[in-house]
Amino acid sequence: MSERADAVVIGAGILGASVAHALTKLGFGDVSLLDKGAVCSGSTRYSAANVRQHYSNEVGIRLALRAVEMFERDEEELGGPSGFVRCGYMVMAPPGEERAIRDVVPLQRSLGVQTEILSPDEVAERYPELDVDGIALACLEPASGYADPVLTTRSLVDSARRRGLAVHEGRAVTGIERTGGRVTGVSTSAGAIATPVVVNAAGPWGDRIGRLAGIEYRLTFSREHEAQLELPSGFGEVPVTSDAAQRFYFRPHGPGRLLVGEGWPKEVEPDDPETYDPGTDDEHVRRMLEKLFRRVPGLRDRVRYLTGYSGMYDITDDWYPIVGAEPALEGYYTAFGGSGHCFKLGPPLGEALADVIAGREPAIDISPLRHSRFEEGDTFSSVWGPGNRA
Ligand SMILES: Cc1cc2nc3c(=O)[nH]c(=O)nc-3n(C[C@H](O)[C@H](O)[C@H](O)COP(=O)(O)OP(=O)(O)OC[C@H]3O[C@@H](n4cnc5c(N)ncnc54)[C@H](O)[C@@H]3O)c2cc1C
Repeated sequence: MSERADAVVIGAGILGASVAHALTKLGFGDVSLLDKGAVCSGSTRYSAANVRQHYSNEVGIRLALRAVEMFERDEEELGGPSGFVRCGYMVMAPPGEERAIRDVVPLQRSLGVQTEILSPDEVAERYPELDVDGIALACLEPASGYADPVLTTRSLVDSARRRGLAVHEGRAVTGIERTGGRVTGVSTSAGAIATPVVVNAAGPWGDRIGRLAGIEYRLTFSREHEAQLELPSGFGEVPVTSDAAQRFYFRPHGPGRLLVGEGWPKEVEPDDPETYDPGTDDEHVRRMLEKLFRRVPGLRDRVRYLTGYSGMYDITDDWYPIVGAEPALEGYYTAFGGSGHCFKLGPPLGEALADVIAGREPAIDISPLRHSRFEEGDTFSSVWGPGNRA
């Protein structure tokens, strides 16, 4: 007998896992989650998983607020542990870029974000490990932090599985079946599945899946590097810190460890998500460490390099994801284009898209993320310029 499902979600990264989790929570019927590899084997696996609320527009801020609520109550909202650590998030602006903070903090506060503007002296007083040279202004969100991307994705999938989700690892989607203007199923490396609903949550492979459905997306791919370091004993507290002056970030990575990554704007490092090298190299690590030692001078010669790796960003033309129905193909939905900042937004986006699929009105209006915004010229821009500090 041929296989059938009420919905097929393609891709078991944070976005696909979140959509599948939310659909099963709504009791949508038989939902299948397919991944060509294992659960969380794509870009989510390499995510820094910083969970901040510093966004510069209403939809971003509302989604990020909901994200913090979901991570804070992970067992209930995400179906299990997420490893969320509420250590705070701070972004620091160089002279000339203070407006990026001053202009958006009032909007963030009006929507409910707790965020405090700090002078360089106040930063130094609160975090004595930091050298504030080259910093003009900062803002700090005490409720933000970071999570564990693999643990979070697995929790979402495992809890959905308990509600009946069928999970197919090692099963690649090879075709999208359509009749007239509507989806009728998918073909896969292990046979076809008839379904009226297909969600393309294939992350950096989303454009390839789109082509199978006859839908074109513009994506840029960039390889992004990170390193984990062992800290000297007695090192003080730091929040997740985005250093816009030097364009890099760092954050605690569990007890005695620090994670460092490169930030935007910078040059794209183009590569193919299918064939790129997920390791890193000496040059990237040296560059990140130099920036870290300038900002945290007490760490020079006192950290031990543990490991480094790289993940792919799937970047849309305006650095915001594409999420929603595709009017040209009934039953087909898009949920990718995370552009380097959609780990945290995955769960609230999954929740909102599941509502759209089920014909309910989502609590957060995600229509600004529709694919057609590009041809309509109704795109996003960030106070920080092009990049994932959106
Ligand atoms: C280095 C790095 C640091 C980051 N830091 C942060 C951060 O601090 N905070 C934040 O919010 N975001 C961050 N991000 C961004 C965030 O991690 C991504 O936006 C998000 O994880 C993307 O998830 P996804 O589910 O769209 O894609 P993926 O996790 O890549 O999942 C897509 C899945 O689709 C599967 N797939 C592909 N083709 C097929 C097929 N034909 N059939 C079946 N399955 C298929 C793949 O195997 C993969 O598992 C970071 C990203 C990187 C790379």
